[in-house]
Amino acid sequence: MARNLDAKCRQCRREGEKLFLKAEKCYTDKCAVERRAYAPGQHGQKKNTRLSEYGGQLREKQKLRRVYGILEGQFRRTYQRAEQARGITGEALLQFLESRLDNVSYRMGFGGSRAEARQTVRHNGILVNGKRVNIPSYQVRPGDVIEVAEKAKNHLRLKSAIEAAEQRGFPEWIDVNAKELKGTYKAMPQRSELPATINEHLIVELYSK
Ligand code: ZN
Repeated sequence: MARNLDAKCRQCRREGEKLFLKAEKCYTDKCAVERRAYAPGQHGQKKNTRLSEYGGQLREKQKLRRVYGILEGQFRRTYQRAEQARGITGEALLQFLESRLDNVSYRMGFGGSRAEARQTVRHNGILVNGKRVNIPSYQVRPGDVIEVAEKAKNHLRLKSAIEAAEQRGFPEWIDVNAKELKGTYKAMPQRSELPATINEHLIVELYSK
């Protein structure tokens, strides 16, 4: 699978905000966006870089793709599903992205970043309702119980990740037992529970053309 190999916090600079691609770094002031809050590259400091309407829509989509770490094709398919779902398309898009098994695992602290959580999923380290699921894009449903498989429970990185997540506090929509490395996806997050810095309507505009 192709990946964006730019240094993680360089991508934060590109988007002008913390993307938490590399959690342990991004949660601190080591994140490059804190040091140099302008886009990387020789044109990064150009004044008057007002984006065109299309540019702004594209930027927003790229940002969301980076945050959730998915490729264009998969992002578009997720969008198409959101379009067919009941309710507001932009909100459904965010909910589908949040419901990905790699993301839910990350939210529960089973990885210091989404990329790390995805690795754990791929390597058969995560169970859904007691069954092994190694598909990162697998859609978790409200009520599903996610847990770390026995063989992965002693990984040190995982332990420090869940401790850090517990300290930051878990989101409302999940219930986590950090000791047992197990959690329940109680409900899909409501729009108000997700970052206000996401402008999903721009993505809807982009794909509605
Ligand atoms: Zn960062």
